[in-house]
Amino acid sequence: MYVDVHPRYRDTASAKTAQDILSACVHCGFCLATCPTYLDSRDERDSPRGRIYLIKQLLETGHATKQTRTHLDRCLTCRSCETTCPSGVAYGQLIDIGRELVVEAAPRAPLVRGLRALLAKLLSSPYLFRALLGVGQFFRPLVPKQLRRKIPPPSTRSTNPEQQHRRKMLVLTGCVQSAATPNTNAAAARILDQLGISLVAVERAGCCGAVNHHLDRQGDGLDNMRRNIDAWWPHIEAGAEAIVSTASGCGSMLADYGDLLAMDLAYAAKARRVSELTRDIGQILLPEDLSQLRLNTAIGKVAVHTPCSLQHALKLPLLIADILTNAGFELATTSDDHLCCGSAGTYSILQPAISNRLLNAKMRALSHDKPSIIATGNVGCQLHIASETKIPIVHWVELLDPNFRFGQ
Ligand code: SF4
Ligand code: SF4
Repeated sequence: MYVDVHPRYRDTASAKTAQDILSACVHCGFCLATCPTYLDSRDERDSPRGRIYLIKQLLETGHATKQTRTHLDRCLTCRSCETTCPSGVAYGQLIDIGRELVVEAAPRAPLVRGLRALLAKLLSSPYLFRALLGVGQFFRPLVPKQLRRKIPPPSTRSTNPEQQHRRKMLVLTGCVQSAATPNTNAAAARILDQLGISLVAVERAGCCGAVNHHLDRQGDGLDNMRRNIDAWWPHIEAGAEAIVSTASGCGSMLADYGDLLAMDLAYAAKARRVSELTRDIGQILLPEDLSQLRLNTAIGKVAVHTPCSLQHALKLPLLIADILTNAGFELATTSDDHLCCGSAGTYSILQPAISNRLLNAKMRALSHDKPSIIATGNVGCQLHIASETKIPIVHWVELLDPNFRFGQ
């Protein structure tokens, strides 16, 4: 696809990148068949190919309408289209550029900008989010059922191992997960402890930057990344083997640090190193001998929900299923595994109608084989799915935790 870039963008690096990405698209439309928003609306403008045309138009004319912005906003950034595309179109990178340009060309109303800024502040700060969650949990019994199911109940805090091992890995503590599902990182630490690895949480590190990045605050997102790099760097120099993420949405952001900070001379090399060292917890555990863990695998069928960030962004679609199968768990049959559950970062808050329809479809796809538990790999999906089902849902790593108890 040829793009005649408008003079306004002609000398910008992002327009050049977009032009290169667009040149790979051959308009075949294969991606439509696996795009959740197109399958939901059957509107070409809510499909990958339609959005690609909208971004091309914006690059060529320098103009965009509110309607253009709406169709770009409705994209989940699930990147299912990338997995399907036979031409290797880097759609995830393109939609990020398109969104940055569209809010310049068709700015949001001041009130909406304010609400998005507030959302970014609340979600990217573990302290603010913990306080907000605490208030929500306190009033949970009093609020209407519709709202109650969106507030996760308080989770039991569990202890981290004290033993120090020679092998050390850093863990991303993040923002939402550390407050809403703290047992995930604690379970990962206990498992790695049994394998002779210490998981180190560095206090000064925090949100990976994804929340700001996806709420039109790319500058704040880059600041989050620089802060994390500064916090981790002394530990990396001291020999930390990896930066472990137990939330695949955050892990996919860490994997992009190298690209996102490539133009920052002070941070480019360090950012690239951080991306190289980043591993999903599954990538650490897959090659390990898990037979030394005392596992309770007799818990009935486990329905695996592989987050889009793990399957489409990190390209690890079978990671969770392989580990659980190797460990001896019986997996439930599921369908439409490639389709997003509708969580997608802040999407469930900003696009509730589409998000709920996708969630209902995902619940049917996950539950038809009558699983006794659902296992996923990203906090956003975990909370979103939990809001719609009575089937227990955990981060899959909790199933391997020596402290895991089920049905007792
Ligand atoms: S990222 Fe997901 S929602 Fe967006 S166009 Fe691609 S498949 Fe559709
Ligand atoms: S599948 Fe790839 S090449 Fe075909 S229309 Fe979609 S993005 Fe373009």
